[in-house]
Amino acid sequence: MTVQKGTIDIKTENIFPIIKKFLYSDHEIFLRELISNATDATQKLKTLASAGKLKDELGDLTIRVEVDKKNKTLTVRDSGIGMTADEVEKYINQIAFSSAEEFVKKFKTKTEAEQNAIIGHFGLGFYSSFMVSEKVEIRTKTYKKGGKTKAVHWECDGSPEYSLEEIEDKKDRGTEVILHIDDENKEFLEEYRIKELLNKYCKFLPVPIQFGTEKIQEPVEGEKDKDGNPVMKEVEKPYIVNNTNPLWKKKPSEATDEDYKNFYRELYPYSFEEPLFHIHLNVDYPFNLTGILYFPKVKKDYELQRNKIQLYSNQVFVTDSVEGIVPDFLTLLHGVIDSPDIPLNVSRSYLQSDQSVKKISGYITRKVADKLADIFKNDRETFEKKWDDIKIFIEYGMISDEKFYEKAVKFSLLKNTEGKYFTLDEYKKHIENTQKDKDNKLVYLYANNQEEQHAYIETARERGYDVLLMNGVLDNHFINTLEQKLSDTSFARVDSNTIDKLINKEEEAPSKLEDKEKDKLKEAFERNIDKEKFTVIFENLSETDMPVVIMQNEFMRRMRDMEALGGGSGMMGLGNLPETYEMVVNANNPLLEKVIKEKSKKKQDQLIKQMYDLARLSKNLLKGKELTDFVKRSIDIIE
Ligand code: ADP
Repeated sequence: MTVQKGTIDIKTENIFPIIKKFLYSDHEIFLRELISNATDATQKLKTLASAGKLKDELGDLTIRVEVDKKNKTLTVRDSGIGMTADEVEKYINQIAFSSAEEFVKKFKTKTEAEQNAIIGHFGLGFYSSFMVSEKVEIRTKTYKKGGKTKAVHWECDGSPEYSLEEIEDKKDRGTEVILHIDDENKEFLEEYRIKELLNKYCKFLPVPIQFGTEKIQEPVEGEKDKDGNPVMKEVEKPYIVNNTNPLWKKKPSEATDEDYKNFYRELYPYSFEEPLFHIHLNVDYPFNLTGILYFPKVKKDYELQRNKIQLYSNQVFVTDSVEGIVPDFLTLLHGVIDSPDIPLNVSRSYLQSDQSVKKISGYITRKVADKLADIFKNDRETFEKKWDDIKIFIEYGMISDEKFYEKAVKFSLLKNTEGKYFTLDEYKKHIENTQKDKDNKLVYLYANNQEEQHAYIETARERGYDVLLMNGVLDNHFINTLEQKLSDTSFARVDSNTIDKLINKEEEAPSKLEDKEKDKLKEAFERNIDKEKFTVIFENLSETDMPVVIMQNEFMRRMRDMEALGGGSGMMGLGNLPETYEMVVNANNPLLEKVIKEKSKKKQDQLIKQMYDLARLSKNLLKGKELTDFVKRSIDIIE
């Protein structure tokens, strides 16, 4: 074969300027494309060998990446199947090029938004190397005929002209792709930059990839120091970028807990927390999918980290920005998902609308729910121990994903203020006979702060009621979800009304005070309290209940909470909701009679102030000067 010159069969104008211009944002992916090609060629060779179709030895299959700063080249070298001259003609000049050409054709007639979608659809593969090069060379020698055919050299400088010739100086099987990096892309001649890219895209490729060398400490054989420890020596070894057999590729039965923890560290070297537990995904029907998902430990300050899940396609990194690809609540998990059905060369918007990606995401949701159900069923004790840490994920899933709710409703737990855990069904049974009001509605009482709401919790318990602890970040939302899902059920915070109003069982007890007396009392109270903040109301509670209690209306409180989360004011035009409370005066407590009978106005005020302060104190509302005044007054009274 003589030197063959040709023009790449091109019907549109020169495509390279367009490739360069429009794929600008993602220049770096060229390296991933070249290394995936090299990996494919190597895997094909292995397949041939195991089918007995390879005449020569497999030999060392390591893929090598080399930077030559002086000559401004970046080379990717493999020992895969290689290509014959005909194959270069067919696969590089025609097929690879026609897909690039088709890309350009479609590209030209579209609006910018459509263009972006098109870029997403096309894998430019090998031709993406022209994004960073002024010239690309291929030197390749096929495995065919036992390696007796000559190697060929292909070269193209970005114009439609190429050259193809036989060469003598390549004796080894496989392919070298040599990029002559152009001036705008000098960064790809920097070792650190290439290392960074290899670590990002190639960390778990199935064929070893070598880039330069690394220095490591190794014991010298047979030599010991005076303490009997082996003598260490620095040696330079080829630096292998990747772990070719990542844990997710193994069978779950072959991996230990320790392996999963170690792999977590491999994925997130800068994370100090251990994961709570893992889910190993491993299916081949209806699609091929492997992966490991970790439930991370979330710190108290609600430091959720999204975008920790990495998507792979046959061990090639695709993306770690998975929002819109997996269900929102799963973006809080960590780990890897690998599926050949995840398209490699596509844009985010394309990934989000891709049907197989949608199926994968639905499958993962189901699998996560199944695994949780499994742990719950087989080891409830462990499940309960981890509940406080994992409930944020489960509640988020139940709030935002209907399908997940349906599954999780069986293992989602409620914790009461005594630290006992119940499933939703169990809890319903637990309170069914005690906490129904006169309209047959079931009332779930809850506290969100055991310390601050202690007095209210105690009052409820004295009535024989159970109080839930709902102190999670998402509990306000979760309560809304449960109220929508559970029929004839409402939630009420223990301090939002008097207990007999919260679970209204029967008609109100008769009042010991006459209306006139109440009017007088109200006047006396309003003289002594902050009227803007507290509204006085009378209720006929039992004699043994507190004389004065402060409540915060459930509805108003929820509005305020929503406003604090940023959802309220703008949405409903409520502006800044003032902090208001109800001051419930128990008309039946004997102390009130005493107040009415008190002739001295000064003493009457003192009594009222004292009751008012005590009520505020048990709601943690007494601070500063008012607290000091209270202490002084209390001492006066004792004296
Ligand atoms: P794709 O990889 O998506 O098929 P490319 O444009 O990247 O598209 O490559 C086109 C073809 O060129 C490949 O399908 C393969 O047949 C051939 N090829 C590319 N790189 C190599 C290589 N390193 N070794 C052997 N063949 C290769």
